Amino acid sequence: MDITTGSREEAREEEPGWLGIEEASPFTVKSKATKVTADAKRWSSLVNATLVVLIMTMPPLIFIGGRLGAPTVWIKSTVANLGAPDGEESNKDVLLGGLLVPGFDKQSCASRYQSVYYRKNMTRLPSPYLIKRLREHEALQRRCGPGTKPYIRATERLRSEQQVLDSNDGCNYLVLISYRGLGNRILATNSAFLYALLTNRVLLVDPGHGNTLPDLFCEPFPGSTWVLPPDFPVTNFRDLDEAAPESYANVVVNRSRSVTGLRFVYAHLDHDASQANRLVYCDDHREFLHRVQWMILRTDQYMSPGFFFNPAYESELQRMFPRTDSVFYIISRYLMHPTNEVWGMVTRFYNSYLRDADERLGIQIRVFGDENKSAQHVLDQILACTSREHLLPAVASTGGGGGAPPLMTSSGSKAVLITCLSSWYHDNIREMYWKSGAENGEVVSVHQPSHEGRQHWFHGEHDMKALAEIFLLSLTDKIVTSGQSTFGYVSHALGGLTPYITYRTMDETVADPPCARTVSMEPCAFTVPHFDCVKKDYTVDIPPRTATIRTCEDVFWGVKLTEAEA
Ligand code: GDP
Repeated sequence: MDITTGSREEAREEEPGWLGIEEASPFTVKSKATKVTADAKRWSSLVNATLVVLIMTMPPLIFIGGRLGAPTVWIKSTVANLGAPDGEESNKDVLLGGLLVPGFDKQSCASRYQSVYYRKNMTRLPSPYLIKRLREHEALQRRCGPGTKPYIRATERLRSEQQVLDSNDGCNYLVLISYRGLGNRILATNSAFLYALLTNRVLLVDPGHGNTLPDLFCEPFPGSTWVLPPDFPVTNFRDLDEAAPESYANVVVNRSRSVTGLRFVYAHLDHDASQANRLVYCDDHREFLHRVQWMILRTDQYMSPGFFFNPAYESELQRMFPRTDSVFYIISRYLMHPTNEVWGMVTRFYNSYLRDADERLGIQIRVFGDENKSAQHVLDQILACTSREHLLPAVASTGGGGGAPPLMTSSGSKAVLITCLSSWYHDNIREMYWKSGAENGEVVSVHQPSHEGRQHWFHGEHDMKALAEIFLLSLTDKIVTSGQSTFGYVSHALGGLTPYITYRTMDETVADPPCARTVSMEPCAFTVPHFDCVKKDYTVDIPPRTATIRTCEDVFWGVKLTEAEA
């Protein structure tokens, strides 16, 4: 990530029953959500949902009736076809082993049902416990989200400047201030969702200054919206910073954990968060935070590794993610479904340029600073990396000059997907394989979807292109990403790819070695607690490492989740 650019402007081990989660669980609430805000427009097909519920509950009834026959066949094929591209019969598990719920309108969010046809099979499967917790969380969002009576009551209390503690509705909220580049925003959203899950809070995401969130992602929760409504009563919430009286550090250090008189607590877990504010990672949510109905969170970071330092979350995290290195991967498959506009860009490009290749290599190039400056050392470093790791074939030394080119080649094909703000790197690599053939006879084609020149802030179309490229990168077989780039982190983690990461140098030289295969597919987290979460003494600097939390290859102060070595 580039933190120098941009501004602030900018339970039990059981299988979940089929739609068998109690609406009230895990709270004891009597009032029922009656109305969903118009913002939840993507959940448009109630009829569809009802049909699915009927379909899914009918087979046992028919079986009990002893009339296995034509109706059962019809039901099975109807369910199997849910989500399949039109006209395509398939037995692909579009719902990813129960990670996703059926019933969303297939037309309004095609990616939710089609991704499985483009992605490799999942290498990490959701645990039954996680699935159960997700269904509970969906019920919570539906019961307490915007448009419901509990939400109206909660926002009215906030608006009337009352102290907002101990709500009777059992509805607590986490508002995520979303800003910075898309990679940062996705990391923040993914990990904020994990925090919402751990603390039973409804997640509401600030759509950003350009209101770009609805352009990018479909609603993830059925019958509810995750978009923070525009009439959210804390009007200046985007200006909150560490100095705010409501900041977590202030409550813990200066107010002796007293939240009296406060309407909300503000968690500042941005890249520059002080160690005192990072205490929130170690909060067991029992002491005082559970009484606070509204939490507002600012982060541009991947927070999830930080929660693993908290003993209070240990067993819950273990049950949700028996494999530690699957956190981002599984949550992103659950949460991040690009809108039809973005998904169309992904699929059209993929089908045109990548689908038919024997192998797809993604190369993500992020040049911090002057994006438009052509950096020879960056190109040299990428070529050194792809050569050393045998990701790209060497070009024939005879060049294009003398030798007769072969009539045909049967040595396979490789499609290289390059993403970058500049087209210079793409042009050079493509020309290299145009002027000379690959030494091993492979056909190498080089493609780049866009070259936007520079990063734009809060610009819907620009963000949509960026998101399409992140998803395209995630569909490749192998990937090279740029060190310290959250755009790169998201691209490989979304695809479940363990990347080759190029080291960022500050003196315009080629790093030696130029790149390294990382220890895990998880993104790197830059801002985690540097102290003992049990003692909570944030003045003692203890580098955060455990058997499953290791130092990032490209950022010595960052950590990433890994699977423990055997
Ligand atoms: P980071 O700065 O590399 O950590 O990544 P971010 O995604 O947080 O911010 C960079 C922003 O610059 C992206 O969100 C895009 O707006 C833009 N950008 C950077 N690289 C690319 C690219 O390869 N393609 C496109 N379309 N946009 C890019």
